[in-house]
This record gives sequence, structure tokens and C-alpha cells, in this order.
Amino acid sequence: MADSYDIIVIGGGPGGYVAAIRAAQLGFKTAVVEKSHLGGICLNWGCIPTKALLRSAEIYHYMEHAKDYGLSAEKIGFDAAAVVKRSRGVSAQLATGVGFLLNKNKVDVIWGKATFIAPGKLKVEAAQNPPKGAKGGGDYTAKHIIVATGARPRALPGLEPDKKLIWTYFDAMVPEKMPKSLLVMGSGAIGIEFASFYRTMGAEVTVVEVLPQILPVEDEEIAAVARKRFEKQGMKIMSGAKVTGVTKHADSITAHVEDAKGVKHDITVDRMISAVGVVGNVEGLGLEGLGVKIERGIVVTDGYGRTNVPGVYAIGDIAGPPMLAHKAEHEGVICVETIKGLHTHPMDKNKIPGCTYCTPQIASVGLTEKKAKEAGREIKVGRFPFIGNGKAIALGEPDGLVKTIFDAKTGELLGAHMVGAEVTELIQGFVVAMNLETTEEDLIHAVFPHPTLSEMMHESVMAAYGRAIHV
Ligand SMILES: Cc1cc2nc3c(=O)[nH]c(=O)nc-3n(C[C@H](O)[C@H](O)[C@H](O)COP(=O)(O)OP(=O)(O)OC[C@H]3O[C@@H](n4cnc5c(N)ncnc54)[C@H](O)[C@@H]3O)c2cc1C
Repeated sequence: MADSYDIIVIGGGPGGYVAAIRAAQLGFKTAVVEKSHLGGICLNWGCIPTKALLRSAEIYHYMEHAKDYGLSAEKIGFDAAAVVKRSRGVSAQLATGVGFLLNKNKVDVIWGKATFIAPGKLKVEAAQNPPKGAKGGGDYTAKHIIVATGARPRALPGLEPDKKLIWTYFDAMVPEKMPKSLLVMGSGAIGIEFASFYRTMGAEVTVVEVLPQILPVEDEEIAAVARKRFEKQGMKIMSGAKVTGVTKHADSITAHVEDAKGVKHDITVDRMISAVGVVGNVEGLGLEGLGVKIERGIVVTDGYGRTNVPGVYAIGDIAGPPMLAHKAEHEGVICVETIKGLHTHPMDKNKIPGCTYCTPQIASVGLTEKKAKEAGREIKVGRFPFIGNGKAIALGEPDGLVKTIFDAKTGELLGAHMVGAEVTELIQGFVVAMNLETTEEDLIHAVFPHPTLSEMMHESVMAAYGRAIHV
């Protein structure tokens, strides 16, 4: 007889494992089916290992600039294999931690690949190398099944990754040796983080972006500040340009690029990274057979994780953008609490922060200036530059900008956008403010500690109302 649960989650990524733990907390008999790695892309091939690589790059950068701080560092260098090993170790530690948390919360982990065979019924094909004694292949039933199978790299026709010369993020995460030159196709968060990592480690990096603006989802002004910094670091950026084809050589590749003016360029590099987005893992799950609505590779949900088929839910990357781990986690919690019948709110995508951990860092939440204007809002915009902040100067990080956007009539904070050192750690202040429907008055009355970078958040708000102090 099939093992039976209240809730089964397919996929042990940040969406899946968080949903499962919350389900167990709420008293549901819960299982997670995972085919290869707990923690999903985030812990194994995404958020965490990239941040570990970027940390190595950041320390390397500071070592190179030791003199600026009155220090000396000689014979600076790196061991690419050791940098990668550290990153893999961080991933492994955290993935093990997910197993521990699931176990602690009495969530069963079923190792294998799940497919729907009927509503509420799954067939699991056992994983190749499951942990000793783990549950595996067989049939399983549940009243509620949450699909959290994530996404994979998108491939452009004629520019398909080949693991050797054209890399995806999987290959870029574990280079055998550092390429001397690299072309990154796509300037979203993933592309820019790798471009930043490899540039800091000394590679000649060219970024080709088809849209006129790099970091296309970010505020135009913030993206322009970031671009200037990247170019100052020696990164070559071609926006409004596209890779039309490639010619492969034994150990290098020539990208044929058409720039914004239609001029053709042949750019030969050691390796190319394809970072042109991701597509949802919707195939092979039996969703079509159940009649689950899928549009352009994304399972359609109602903001609470419910699909059009009762008892089938979808969360995380497979449920659409923004494809971010914290969005996946939050969706998982909303979904499970809705199943429980708790009072829940649908996911508000406008209040999901986005962070890019390149140098300089970029962080944002809410409407960009352009989007706010397009929405017909009358706005007030505040700006505060890093150069006016004592802590930024003390850190040796005088470049950057904090920008805030308010509704001119109501004082509602509509958006916040930042570029510069540590801004990924600051943005949450504005996220909380937006969730509390804060106005400029509340923010101006709040006391910010001195000396911190957070004072720039305060100043930016005051600047929107013509009363910034330090500019
Ligand atoms: C290079 C890179 C850097 C990133 N950096 C960040 C970042 O800094 N911050 C951020 O918020 N996001 C980042 N992301 C995005 C983030 O990784 C994803 O948004 C997040 O992992 C999505 O979580 P998920 O649970 O939806 O899916 P996933 O993490 O993809 O997990 C899905 C899981 O389902 C399993 N699975 C799939 N099909 C089946 C099946 N049929 N049966 C059983 N198991 C199955 C997979 O093995 C996988 O473990 C990054 C992504 C990449 C690629």
C-alpha cells in the first residue's frame, strides 16, 4: 500500500523545504521528495556558493588595496581550486543543515524523482545514490501536493551551453582554472555576479546585454552608477547588443556580436557564460495529465500557491518571477498556512527585495522611478550619495547612491534603490517600512545609529523632502 501523507512537497529547495517545515509545525504529516540535493539550486548551485566565491574575490580585492588602509600585503595570489573548494564546502555544510532541520521537524525525506500518476498520487523513481537507509522509490499519496521543482538555465538556439566553452552557472561555479578572458551573455543578477567575480580575479570580462540597460530590472539611475563602477574596474560592457553566433576553437571561442549601432564585432575569449535567464522545471511531472494550467513554462497560481486543480499547488521558481530564494520560501509558508485555513495574504510581488552581490552591491524593493511614473504616480525622489556618509568614507567605500521614491500626495514609500558597499544588508529596513505602509514622516522620525551606512537611508528620505543634512 502507498505511504500516505497530509502534504507532500516535490523538491527540497528553499521553497520546498521551508514549506515542509512550516507544514510540520502546523501539525501536518509531511514529506519532501528530492531527486538530487537538499537545499535545491539555492544552497548547492545558486545563492550560497556564488556568495562564497564572491567573498573570496572581495577579500582578494581588499588585499590588493591593502596599501589604501595603511597595510601591506605582498605576493598576493590565489589558488583557484582552493577558492572553489571553499565554496563547495559552504554549500555542503548548509545542505546538510537542511537535512538536519527536516529530521528535527519530523519531515520524511523521500529520495527520488516524483511524477503525478493521479490527483493526490505520486510515483517516485528512486534516486541513484540515496543516503543510507533513506526512503526511496514507490507510490505515495497525499491530500495536498506542492510542486517546488525550481528552474534550470535557459538556452538560446545556436548558443547552447556545452560545459566546455559555453558555460552555465553550474560550470562557472566550479572552474578547473580561471579563464584569462570571458564573455558573459546577459546582465541580470546571475550574469553580473559572475562577471564581477571573474573580473576581480583578474579575467578580461565583456558583458553583452540585449537591452539598453544592464541589470534590466533595476532603477535606471542605479544601473548607470553600477555600470560606471564596473567599467572603472575594467569590465567591458556592450548593452543593446546581441551575440548572433559563435565559432568554437580547441580551447577558446569567438562570439559574433552585433552592437547597438548594428556594427559587428568578433570577440575571442577563453570561455563564455550563458546567463540569459532560467526556465521552470515543469516537464516530466505529469502536470499536463492532471490539467494543471501552465503558461510559458510557469505553473499558474493564485497568489496563495493554488493551481487550477484542487489539491495541487506550486511555489518558488516554477510558479514564476521573481525567481528568488526568499520569494520561494515566503510562497511556501503562504501556501501551507492557506491549506491549514489560517488567515493569509497573497504574495505581494511589489514588496519582494532583489539583491545583486557584485562589487558594488545593488539592492532594491518596490517601484523604480520609471515604473512609478508609468503608473501615473506623482512622486518625490530623494537621493543620497555615499560620499556624504562618514562610515562609507571610513570603510574606504565612497562610491554609491541611496535613492527613495515617495508618493507626493500621501507620503507612501513606493520604492527604494541602492548601489554601493553592503547595501544588500541595508535594504531590509526599507522592506519592513513598506510592509508597515510607512510614510516619509515615520522614517524621518526614526533614529538611525551613527556612524553607519544606514544613515544614508535616513538622509535619502529627508532629501526627498528637501531637508537632507549632509549634502
Ligand atoms: C547562480 C545563481 C545565483 C543565485 N543567487 C541568488 C541569490 O543571491 N538570492 C536569491 O534569492 N536567489 C538566488 N538565485 C535563485 C535561487 O537559487 C532560486 O530562486 C531558488 O533556488 C528557487 O527555489 P525553489 O525551491 O523554487 O527551487 P530549487 O532551489 O531549484 O529547488 C528545486 C528542487 O527540486 C528538485 N526536483 C526537481 N524536480 C524534481 C522531481 N521531479 N522530483 C523530486 N525532486 C525534484 C531539484 O533537485 C531541486 O533540489 C540564484 C540562482 C542561481 C542559478
